Amino acid sequence: MISFLDLKSINQACRDELIEACTRVIDSGWYIGGSELQQFESSYAEYCGTKHCIGVANGLDALVLVIRAWKELGYLREGDEILVPSNTYIASILAISENGLVPVLVEPDPATFNICPISAEAAITAKTKAILPVHLYGRLADMPAIMALAERSGLLVLEDSAQSHGANVNGRKAGGWGHASGFSFYPGKNLGALGDAGAVTTNDDMLASTLRALRNYGSHEKYKNLYRGMNSRLDEIQAAMLSVKLKYLDEQTIHRRKIADLYTNNIQHPAITLPVVSQFNPLENSSHVWHVYTVLCQDRDALQNHLLANNIQTLIHYPIPPHQQQAYSELARYSLPVSEKIHREILSLPMGPGLLLEEARAVVAACNSFQSDMT
Ligand SMILES: *Cc1c(COP(=O)(O)O)cnc(C)c1O
Repeated sequence: MISFLDLKSINQACRDELIEACTRVIDSGWYIGGSELQQFESSYAEYCGTKHCIGVANGLDALVLVIRAWKELGYLREGDEILVPSNTYIASILAISENGLVPVLVEPDPATFNICPISAEAAITAKTKAILPVHLYGRLADMPAIMALAERSGLLVLEDSAQSHGANVNGRKAGGWGHASGFSFYPGKNLGALGDAGAVTTNDDMLASTLRALRNYGSHEKYKNLYRGMNSRLDEIQAAMLSVKLKYLDEQTIHRRKIADLYTNNIQHPAITLPVVSQFNPLENSSHVWHVYTVLCQDRDALQNHLLANNIQTLIHYPIPPHQQQAYSELARYSLPVSEKIHREILSLPMGPGLLLEEARAVVAACNSFQSDMT
């Protein structure tokens, strides 16, 4: 079986270093808020090209805490609206509603799956205070256009970079565009811990200091509480694991791009639509880090079954759009044909730094031998 993502083989590749780092933390006797966290925060800020990185417990908390901090700083209030892509993973929307703000769903550009800046502008009302672009599947959203729109309209920008570690346009990376950005280091993300972890990046000193308090019970100073904060910390063991894995991120991204090129250049089937490559930079293709490689197929379930019959595991990102989730009945009024079509037709092929080129060739062959009743 060719698995969708083989985490075991990815971590085996740096097993000795992970064990060494783990041992170092065990032997240090210091497990929360120590030098491993500081070390990782400073390397990840440097990697993203930002002034600050604030480690938190997971990617959802990273997004929740930024919005919470903007409320504490007086930039946002309950009832304010935040523009968010309608085809995102549910966490982007949970971060907004958790804070008592209103998610306003905006359709994506069908060519990139990312929020369409023109539709976003059309959705702005007097209550709109922020935009939350998601770099979905590893492709940087159209940040030059989004930042220009935010500036014109006085909006805050919170990037959801959970799927896009290292994606960049002309060297400016995911996490370095907006006023703040949330990252997830869930094990299956491009930079994954061996458990839950997340971080916020920002250049804003006030925001960084507020976040450092909010992740720690709302306390800047021990036993003094300025805010009613949370407990959302990135522990020493996970920080140490991430420092090891960060060193390999760029070479893993190069491998992901090789697999993506192999798929793009060789899958040829009238019923299978491949992702459009290279939105900004056709030479470098650096805006995409291929967290997942998605194809569209009207006969998606049959394609998925065909691939499974050929021992190829695929996943669907995502089967149900947020506005059709039971948890969000207030969003059921939306009619979102672009998102609905994506959710009906999308399929993610095997992708990852451990996937062999010969396995990717087997995926190509299986796609090309698909017999659709619909063509
Ligand atoms: C994974 C993910 C999150 C949430 O990250 P967790 O670490 O699982 O909380 C948020 N947004 C997007 C787009 C994601 O893919």
